Amino acid sequence: MGKYVYLFGEKITDAQPKELLGGKGAGLAEMTRLGIPVPPGFTITTETCRKWGEAGGKFPEGLTAEVGAAVRALEDKMARKLGDAKDPLLVSVRSGARASMPGMMDTILNLGLNDASVEALAKTSGDRRFAFDAYRRLLEMYSDVVLGVDREHFEEIFLAVKRSAGDENMTDQLVPADKLEELCRRSKELVQQRTGKPFPQNVEEQLWGAIGAVFKSWENPRAARYRQMHNIPSWWGTAVNVQAMVFGNMGDDSGSGVAFTRNPSSGEKALYGEFLSNAQGEDVVAGIRTPQPLTVASAAPGNEKSALEHVMPKAFAEIRAYCEKLDLHFRDMQDVEFTIEKGRVYILQTRNGKRTAHAAVRIAVNLVAEKLLEPKEAVLRVEPEALDQLLHPRLPEPDALARKGIHAVATGLPASPGAARGKIVLDADEAERLAAEGQDVILVRRETSPEDIHGMKAAKGIVTATGGMTSHAAVVARGLGTCCVAGCSAVSVDLAAKKVRIRKPDGSTLELNAGDVISIDGSYGKIYQGALEVEAASKVEEFEQLMVWADEYRRLGVRTNTDTPEGSVEARGWGAEGIGLCRTEHMFFAEDRLEAVRCMVLAESDEQRAKWLAKIAPMQRGDFIGIFDAMDGLPVTIRLLDWPLHEFLPKEEADFVSVARALETDVELVRRRAAAMHELNPMLGHRGIRVGITQPSIYQTQTRAIMEAAVDCTKRKIAVKPEIMLPVVAMAEEVATMRTIVDETAKQVLKEAGIDVPYLVGTMIELPRACLVAEDIAKSAEFFSFGTNDLTQTTFGISRDDAGRFLSAYMEEKRGLLTADPFAQIDVAGVGEMVRVAVERGRKGRPDLKLGLCGEHGGDPTSIEFCEEVGLDYVSCSPPRLPIARLAAAQAALRAKQA
Ligand code: ADP
Ligand code: MG
Ligand code: MG
Repeated sequence: MGKYVYLFGEKITDAQPKELLGGKGAGLAEMTRLGIPVPPGFTITTETCRKWGEAGGKFPEGLTAEVGAAVRALEDKMARKLGDAKDPLLVSVRSGARASMPGMMDTILNLGLNDASVEALAKTSGDRRFAFDAYRRLLEMYSDVVLGVDREHFEEIFLAVKRSAGDENMTDQLVPADKLEELCRRSKELVQQRTGKPFPQNVEEQLWGAIGAVFKSWENPRAARYRQMHNIPSWWGTAVNVQAMVFGNMGDDSGSGVAFTRNPSSGEKALYGEFLSNAQGEDVVAGIRTPQPLTVASAAPGNEKSALEHVMPKAFAEIRAYCEKLDLHFRDMQDVEFTIEKGRVYILQTRNGKRTAHAAVRIAVNLVAEKLLEPKEAVLRVEPEALDQLLHPRLPEPDALARKGIHAVATGLPASPGAARGKIVLDADEAERLAAEGQDVILVRRETSPEDIHGMKAAKGIVTATGGMTSHAAVVARGLGTCCVAGCSAVSVDLAAKKVRIRKPDGSTLELNAGDVISIDGSYGKIYQGALEVEAASKVEEFEQLMVWADEYRRLGVRTNTDTPEGSVEARGWGAEGIGLCRTEHMFFAEDRLEAVRCMVLAESDEQRAKWLAKIAPMQRGDFIGIFDAMDGLPVTIRLLDWPLHEFLPKEEADFVSVARALETDVELVRRRAAAMHELNPMLGHRGIRVGITQPSIYQTQTRAIMEAAVDCTKRKIAVKPEIMLPVVAMAEEVATMRTIVDETAKQVLKEAGIDVPYLVGTMIELPRACLVAEDIAKSAEFFSFGTNDLTQTTFGISRDDAGRFLSAYMEEKRGLLTADPFAQIDVAGVGEMVRVAVERGRKGRPDLKLGLCGEHGGDPTSIEFCEEVGLDYVSCSPPRLPIARLAAAQAALRAKQA
C-alpha cells in the first residue's frame, strides 16, 4: 500500500516532488521548508488520482484514514476544527498537476462552511458581510464543480439580489450583508431544486465531494484539450491540495494578487504584478475587475497611487523579499500568488512563470550573467518552439504611427506581444469557422474562458474588455504566441447587435461591426481601426547570445529549405549552414517560363523538347547563380525535378491555344497528348527519377544549368559546393544509371570550362524500398537526404492530402492511437525505424556517406532529438524555423551527453 498524503514540508523519499505532489503541491512544500509563510495544509498525491481513475472513480483503500489523520494534524496546527460551530477551520481544495494548467481544473475555496459555521465565522471575524460573502462563494463554486449546477444560475440570482438591493450594476463588494444572506438562502434553494438534495451541511461530505471532483476535473474536456495542445500525457493525473484558508476579502487592509519575480513580457529583472484590494484570489485570475499594479514603477502615469507599494508599503516589502528569495532558490522567474489578510502576507503558490519568448530568452541569458546558471543550463531553459514568437510580425511603434496621423482608437494592457490585423469576430466558434476559410480574424470578447480556446487558437489576435495581465486571455495568448490586448476598458461588446463600441479618448463613441477590420499591437496594447501594414520581426541582443551558446553545444548541422536568392539571404541571417533542399519545380512555375515548360512537357519529339529545354536552361542557370552567390561557399543541395510532369500541363483553354501555337501544332492534338498524361495516382506515378529515366534530357539540362552556374561563380572567385539530389528513388539501379548520366554531363561542362569544381551526387530517401536497399544505393550516392514527408506517406500508406479526414480521430485523447501528427513529428517507431535501417545500411555501402533530413520534421524539436540520436549530420528546415532547429539541436546534444 502506498502513502497517499503528505503534509506541506514533509520529507519525500525516492520520488520527484513535482511528479508526486504536482507542481503546486511541490511548490507549497518547498516554500514551507524555506520558511516562507504558507498557510498549512497537505497534498494528496497524483498517484492517488491514477488509482482513483483505474478503479472507476473509487478512492483507494487507506486514503480515508490518511486524509483523516492529515486533517487532524491541520486542525491541531490551526487550533480550529473543520465544521466547528464556534471557531471553524476553512480550507481550500486545489487541483495541481505536474505541469501547470492554469484554470483548466477546479479549485474550491471556503470549504467547511455550513449554516452553523457561517454564523461562527461571522462572530469570530466580527464581520457578518465577510462571512456570508465567503459562504455564497462556496455555495456557487461547490455546486458548480461538485454538484454540476451551472454557475450561470447563481449569477442570475446574484443579479436578482442586486436588483432588489436597488442596483443591478452594483459591484460585488458593495452588496450589503443581509443581501448576501439572502443570496446564500436562494443559492441553497437552487441546489435543492436542481439536484433534489440539500447542499451538504456535513463538512466531511463536502471535503470528499471536493476531492473527487478535483480528480474528475482532470478528465474534463477543456483540460483534455489543453493537454493535447501542450503534449501533456493523460496518465499523469492531478494532485489535490487541501489548505487552510486565508482571506484577502477582510477589508481594505486585505487583498490578493499575483507577483512575477521578473517581468513576464520583457524579461526585465524587476518585480512585476497586480493585485485587487479586498478580494479573494480567484477574482484576480477570473479577470472580473481590472487590478491595480504592484509597483509604483510599473504603474501607468497618474495611476501610481493605486500601486500596492504605495497603498501597503509594509506588506509590499515583505512580498518583494519573498519573491527575491524564491527567484534565487529556483534560479528562475517565479509566478507567485499572494494574499494579504489584515496586513499579514501569505504566499499561496509559486511556479516557474509563463513568459513570452522574448522574456524567456532574456531571463535565461540574464541568469547566466547573474551567475545563477551555466550557459548550457540556459540553453536547456528556453523552449525551442517559443522562439517562434520572436519571429512574429509587429506594427510600427505607436509614436511613429502618431507622426503619420494614425492614432489608436483604444488602449488596453500589452498582454501578449506581436501584431495582427483581421476581421472582428465576437465568438470562438465563428473565429474557428472563418479562420478555416483562410480569413484573418481578431477575437474580441468581454473576457475569455477556457471554453474559448479553439477560437483563440484560430484567431490572429485577441482583445478583451476586462481582465489583467494574468487573466485567462493573457495567459493563454502568451502560451499560443498570439498577440493580445487585454483589459481594454474602453471596449464594450454587444453580442446581440454584433457590434463593438469603443469609447474614444475624445469622448465620442466609435461603433464597429463584426467583420470590420482592426489592427492590434499586443506589445503596446493598442487597437487601431482598419488594416495597418505589419513589419517582420527583429532580433534582440540576448537572442544572439543564446544562439551563440546553442551553436557551441550542437553537433547537428542546420540547413534550410529554400529555392530563391532572397530566401537564401534570409536563411543565412537565421544561421543556415547551407541549403538542404532547393526544389527546382518552383523555378519552372514562374509566370514568364511556364509556357516554355509546358511546351517542353508536351513536345512531340526529343528534338522539339531539346529546343524548349534550351530556352529554360539559361533561366535555371541564372537562378542557381543567384543562390550560389547568396550562399557564398556553403553547400547547396539541389533536387532535380520531382513533380509528375502533368502538374505543369495547361488547364485553361487559352493556355492550350497558345501552347499549340508555340509548338506549331493543332490544339486538339495538344489536348489529346495532355489527356494521355493524366495519372490516376500521381503521388505514386511518373515522377522524380522516373522522369529522369524516361526523359534524361530534363535531368541533363538541369545538371548542366547547375554546373554552369558553379563554373560561373568559381570564375568570379565565389566558392560553390553543389550537391545534386535525385528524388523518389526506389532502386540502386536507378541511381547507378542516373549517376552515370549526371556525371557525364557535369564532366562535360567542366571540360568545356577548363576548370574543376567539386560536386556531390546523392539521393533523397523517401520510399521504404530505398531504406531497405540503402547499402546498394549508397554505392552510387555520396549523400542521403531523408525526405520524411513522403517517407511518412509511403511508410504509413497515408496520403498527406487526405489525412485530415481521419488522423484527427486517431489523435483524440480518449482513443490515444497517436500522440502527435506523424507529418509534424516523426513517428519514431515506424518511419524512424526506416531511417535507422537506411542509416545503418547506407553507411555499410559507403562509410563516409553524408546524412541529412529535409522533411517538415527538420524544424520540429522532437524529431530533431531523434536525428541526433540516429547520428545524422544535419537537419534542414524553412528559414523562420532555423533558430528553433539550432536550439533544439543543442538541447538534443546536451541531453544525449547527460544520458
Ligand atoms: P489555479 O491553479 O487555477 O490557479 P488555485 O488552486 O491556485 O487555482 O486557486 C485559485 C485561487 O484561489 C488562487 O488565486 C489562489 O491564490 C486562491 N486560493 C487557493 N487556496 C487558497 C487559500 N487557502 N487561501 C486563500 N486563497 C486561496
Ligand atoms: Mg493558482
Ligand atoms: Mg518527396
